[in-house]
This record gives sequence, C-alpha cells and structure tokens, in this order.
Amino acid sequence: MQQINQYLSSTLKLLRTERGWSLERAARETGVSKAMLGQIERGESSPTIATLWKVAGGFSVPLSLFIEPPTQNVVVRVADELRQQPAEDDMLVAPLFAYTPEFGFEMFELTLLPGYERYSEPHEPGITEHVIVLEGEMELLLAGQWVTMTKGAAVRFTADVPHGYRNLSLLPAVFHNLIHYPAAASRAM
Ligand code: MN
Repeated sequence: MQQINQYLSSTLKLLRTERGWSLERAARETGVSKAMLGQIERGESSPTIATLWKVAGGFSVPLSLFIEPPTQNVVVRVADELRQQPAEDDMLVAPLFAYTPEFGFEMFELTLLPGYERYSEPHEPGITEHVIVLEGEMELLLAGQWVTMTKGAAVRFTADVPHGYRNLSLLPAVFHNLIHYPAAASRAM
C-alpha cells in the first residue's frame, strides 16, 4: 500500500504540473476535492479505486498510470501477488497489465467484496470495457438495467455512458476488467 501511494503521489504531482493545473482546477476537472487531491499528492491519503477512476477520468489518462509503471514485453503477472486493497475499500485491484500506447488497453483483476456497489461516471468517448467473471456472481449496470453475471460470463460495453458494478451475494466476486482506449485518448500520455 505504501508503494502504490508513493508512485501515485509523484505521478499525480507530475501530471498536474505538466498540465499547469492548480489544485483547484484539478478538483474541478476530476470531481475530487482539492483537500483530497492535496492529501494524495503528499502521500497522506490512500484513495479508493473509485476515487482513482475519477482522477484518471478528469486528466483523461488510463487508471493504471497511477498504479505502477508499465512492465516490459514478456512478463508473467500473478494476481495473487499483485492484489491490493486501496483504502481498505470493498474493491480490490490487481493491476495485470498497465496501459501502453502500442496496445491501447489496460487490464485488471478486480474483486468486489459482498455488498460492494459503485456507479461509474462515463469514461472518455470511445472507451470500451470488457468484464469476464472468474469467480462468484456479480451484477453490471448496463443501459439502466442490472444484469446478473456468473463465472464464465463475458461482456463488452461502451463505457462512455453511466454504468455500474455491484455484488449482492455473500461471497467475493472476481472478474477481469480490460479497458480499451481509442487512439485519441492516448494523446494525454
Ligand atoms: Mn468503468
């Protein structure tokens, strides 16, 4: 957790400096409070994945940019070794493949603990999400309707509209989340 915090705070600071954004401007763009952004930059706060997603959206950059540097070419990634629980939230994240411009996607293994529910603000235009359930049962909010998905179910959806994730079951739900970015979205990188 310490690791993710240090990388996150320096990346956010760098990005904000590059844009020439004040904390106030960054708060306006991301919908995350100035106080919270300041705390993240100083490494004083460990934000939830939901908050990180807002920050990434506001800056028009992939989420994984804030988690760790991209790994090189051939690489074995083991979710059990990578899984983290930022802010002790009910969503755990294992960053399997960070975003790289040549491939245009990032891929996570996400775990929703029982009771987790999140409404996602629309991502940038053209962003597509893939959800493949590995374990348990979860629901996705697609076009205003909660759709139940169990192990083995896979869905691709346009993520530039409101959508959501929840787990109403009594066991954790684990899924792969592959987020594909259109070429234009990589300009910010
Ligand atoms: Mn989303």
